[in-house]
Amino acid sequence: MHDEDFCCAVCLDFFIEPCIIKCGHSFCHLCIESHLNITEKCPLCRAFPGNPIKNRQLESLTMSYISFRNLSTSYYERMKSNRKKLVLQQKALLIIYTELSDKPGQSTELHNLVKNVQDEELKSEIRRQVRQQVGIGLEHIGDLEGDTVTIRLKSSSSK
Ligand SMILES: [Zn+2]
Ligand SMILES: [Zn+2]
Repeated sequence: MHDEDFCCAVCLDFFIEPCIIKCGHSFCHLCIESHLNITEKCPLCRAFPGNPIKNRQLESLTMSYISFRNLSTSYYERMKSNRKKLVLQQKALLIIYTELSDKPGQSTELHNLVKNVQDEELKSEIRRQVRQQVGIGLEHIGDLEGDTVTIRLKSSSSK
């Protein structure tokens, strides 16, 4: 057995909550979800991914291997921080899409999204998610790196 057998090809680290996709490849839940936000292709073989399904067998194999290698502590730390990332990501998306669907014309400036947010981590996550969502669920007018950029919900006709 080798470390690589229990590692995700996206983050190159041990699988955390692995999911399997249609082609048979598995990745961490967080890794495959954020990859599929950008492109609907398997990161390894570029096949159509379908919906990722939890791979429980691989998860327990990974766990056994990790405890056999005595790596549990660092693994659980990483798992905890991944969970935090996921929650942050969901919070950010919720703020973005709630704000936009409330606005006339469903558009707003980026600084409006972050101005009432106290949490610095959440602030930067909102900015990150806006950049990621452009082309998927959002459109923008202006410089994406600046605060005066206008973002709006992507209209289905321009797809
Ligand atoms: Zn991963
Ligand atoms: Zn694949």
